[in-house]
Amino acid sequence: MITVLTGGTGGAKFVDGLRQVVAQEELTIIVNTGDDLLWWGLYVSPDVDSITYVLAGLLSKERGWGVKGDTFQCLQAMGQLGQPIWFHTGDRDLAVHLVRSQLLAHGMTLSQATAEIASKLGVAARILPMSDSRVETRVMTPTAGELSFEEYFVQRWFQDPVESVRFAGAADAEPAPGAVEAIQQAKLVLIAPSNPVTSIGPILAIPGVRKALLESKARVAAVSPIIAGAAVSGPAGILMSAQGLPVSIAGVARAYADFLDVLIVDNRDARNAEELRKSGLRVHCTHTVMRSSLDKMTLAKAVLDCVSAQDSSARSATE
Ligand code: GDP
Repeated sequence: MITVLTGGTGGAKFVDGLRQVVAQEELTIIVNTGDDLLWWGLYVSPDVDSITYVLAGLLSKERGWGVKGDTFQCLQAMGQLGQPIWFHTGDRDLAVHLVRSQLLAHGMTLSQATAEIASKLGVAARILPMSDSRVETRVMTPTAGELSFEEYFVQRWFQDPVESVRFAGAADAEPAPGAVEAIQQAKLVLIAPSNPVTSIGPILAIPGVRKALLESKARVAAVSPIIAGAAVSGPAGILMSAQGLPVSIAGVARAYADFLDVLIVDNRDARNAEELRKSGLRVHCTHTVMRSSLDKMTLAKAVLDCVSAQDSSARSATE
């Protein structure tokens, strides 16, 4: 079994690659829910949706979120009715938010509702929201005060300087049922090339998750979302700086230092990788920019090959 920790955009691309090289039944995906929001009275879980859609073959690859070929008539109608429309929900996407909200209202937990929707959409992998409790990523800015992640990222286009980030509710939250076991019992744990602060950070902030990663016998490998000193997309660089992390592969390594066995970085970071290896961390260089389906599959395969090569060299060293 392979367990993956992930956010939405970069994580969905990586999971798209994994599903091409591993049977979905082999995969457990633990997903960030710090970005979840109530939108038009509905419970929306953007990263869970992206991962569900990608595994169902429904994700819009052009946008990187939402359902491919979706229409936006409800959004338009809501605008005419004077409702906020900064968070773009397509019509088919909306159906998922309606169903999830209904399932939650009938007493299901978020993990039960997630499993129900995934199964209806034909997903065979196990998708686990990081927690069934509400944990909210809050971004403190000097310009607009404290914002939810989606207000900061989608409504305000991550233009505000950032003072700090916190995960409200994390200290009292529990990992979703099965999440700790999925880390403990995996043969491999992968950290997707997701934002280390606001996608992987909230998962690690749930009590018990870091400990499970530390104690797991599985190798833990991460793919860096930072290439040559910058994020491929989005505010990871700004947020890493705000958290006192260098915006580099060394910063990613530092965010995961206590449990990371292998860091996979882009070929463009070959020289920085050499430097980072001096700290004792295994660092593997490959092509990590995922534009095409082939890029995604090649990266997933390279990650699995690199980890299994290290496993066999570790085995022969002990023989
Ligand atoms: P979010 O919840 O939508 O922010 O999703 P993620 O955290 O999963 O994705 C955002 C991160 O993915 C950013 O930090 C990007 O730098 C990273 N990312 C996006 N595309 C790629 C890619 O093709 N390769 C790598 N290595 N990282 C990527």
